[in-house]
Amino acid sequence: MKFKDLSLEQIISMIKWGETTSREVFDYFLWRIQTYDSTIQAFNYINEGGCVSNTDTPLAGVTIGVKDLYSEKWIPTTGASIMLKDYAPPFDATIIKKLKKAGMSSIGKLNMDEFAMGTSGENSRLRTTKNPWGTERIPGGSSSGSAAAVAAGLVPAALGTDTGGSCRQPASMCGVVGFRPSYGRSSRYGIFPMASSFDCPGTITKTVKDAALLYDLMNGEDPMENTTLPGKDVINPEIWNTKDLQGMKLGIPKEYFEEGLDAGVRSTIMQAIDDLKKLGAEIVDISLPMTKYAIAAYYIIVPAEVSTNLARLDGIRYGHNSDAAHESLDELYLHNRGEGLGDEGKRRSILGSYVLSAGFYDAYYTKAAQTRSLIIEEFNAAFAGLDAIITPVSPEVAWKIGEKANDPLKLYLADAYTIPASLAGLPGISVPCGFAESEDEEKERLPVGLQILANHSQEEKLFQIANVFERETPWKEQMTPPGFDD
Ligand code: GLN
Repeated sequence: MKFKDLSLEQIISMIKWGETTSREVFDYFLWRIQTYDSTIQAFNYINEGGCVSNTDTPLAGVTIGVKDLYSEKWIPTTGASIMLKDYAPPFDATIIKKLKKAGMSSIGKLNMDEFAMGTSGENSRLRTTKNPWGTERIPGGSSSGSAAAVAAGLVPAALGTDTGGSCRQPASMCGVVGFRPSYGRSSRYGIFPMASSFDCPGTITKTVKDAALLYDLMNGEDPMENTTLPGKDVINPEIWNTKDLQGMKLGIPKEYFEEGLDAGVRSTIMQAIDDLKKLGAEIVDISLPMTKYAIAAYYIIVPAEVSTNLARLDGIRYGHNSDAAHESLDELYLHNRGEGLGDEGKRRSILGSYVLSAGFYDAYYTKAAQTRSLIIEEFNAAFAGLDAIITPVSPEVAWKIGEKANDPLKLYLADAYTIPASLAGLPGISVPCGFAESEDEEKERLPVGLQILANHSQEEKLFQIANVFERETPWKEQMTPPGFDD
């Protein structure tokens, strides 16, 4: 039996029963990284000394990969940016602290779009991660390395973050499970901020239960982070015994099935909805008319927050320091930031400063914030009569590297189905639900994810529904990309 074919839960139980050790597991994944990462390019840093063993902890020393924007004490943490290329933080993010205490062996830093801005992974300044289902294709983003590494069996699970879809979308593209909690449920302390009113630490795993297992250890109030919700959410283990979806009312919003959704993805999602129905769920058609304003609102509010968060990166106390001669402080900033930040970082900084500037603030930022409130109200009203909302994650399967790289607008549009829930701070999960052919000439058969959204703080229901779907459909067993078998 190979560890790559097992869930996190299964590996932990083998360690606890003495059938293997955390060292053996760690060395196995290290070897897989050494064998396959030259092809996948998921890792920015391999932490060879990261193995811990303590069978009395919940994670029992199991191996986990970490998105390269979680601060880990003295471990390079770059945000996949030239700006922080040589940076190693002097402290652990709250979640890293919690997971270390819970017995995580951290095996390295996973590539991503620079500071989590992107949808394809191509905005990384360090390397371009490949999709294990077709290495000429994007793995999705921004948690590109996390999703590709889990799909290729280089780690059994990985941490990601989801601001506008960055756990759900790459998971969908790579045939794995991507989860984001409600905003405020898990601490952002020590995670490089992208858009602070959106950022959610999440996970990429092979199974729904693994997502819940990590969520259980990660979530909870943090005195270091004043947007965390009080207390801690505990998932009732009884939910794993749920046999079917009798009594569950699931809404299908028509706005997520209109123009722009590829035919192949549509039919895979329709099949999944049919399966949910066969499992006993009541399916109801709903309408969320505010959906059409979500991308516009998101791509105003997010750049506004990005511009303030990236402003601290001036290369003076830390960060990229340009060799170019300067004659003024402005010129120094210009060189440091000009070389340190990539195109998307610059684009969002400029756009964000613009929408926040006097004279434009009300026309753009305030309007977008008002739109966000209406989207929240619309979700609230919809959830009054529903257990969950079901939609596609992405309008298309993994496209080719380079296909949209020079067209930011096309990339923004690809976020259409993940962004609305992000604006509302809702929890969401992407579960593999089959395959669809790419619409290019290759007609490659690639994974599709089903998005399940729940109301705020309803993570338990999300896991319950997702787990029944995962268990009662054949897809999980088919989500192993060929070619990584050793
Ligand atoms: N693709 C979205 C963006 O570029 C979401 C990114 C994310 O969730 N980190 O903003």
